[in-house]
Amino acid sequence: MRDEDVIALVVMLVIGVVAATVYVGLIVLGVNIAKRKNRSPHWMWFAVHPMGLLITLIVMACLPPLRRCPNCAQASNQHARLCGFCGYDFAMAARYAPPPPQGAYMPPQRY
Ligand SMILES: [Zn+2]
Repeated sequence: MRDEDVIALVVMLVIGVVAATVYVGLIVLGVNIAKRKNRSPHWMWFAVHPMGLLITLIVMACLPPLRRCPNCAQASNQHARLCGFCGYDFAMAARYAPPPPQGAYMPPQRY
């Protein structure tokens, strides 16, 4: 094996490792975006194909986030007033803060 061949092999290996790292990093980025927006991270399975990775990343970045229902854990539209699955009233829940958990320390009231 000539020196030029060895250098070419090492350069190709380094390029391959860097490309694979960037590819996996972009998939992890897509999964993080999906989780942050309460969307299914399984959409990133389209990233098995490089074109699918590109399309899924663009779509995932453009989609608006979903709101997670505290009652049934289903995802609803960000601006929805009621949960489409159980009828939970998001507006009512925002108006009345939940009571503190039992046994939580409450500072004494000053009058
Ligand atoms: Zn619900």
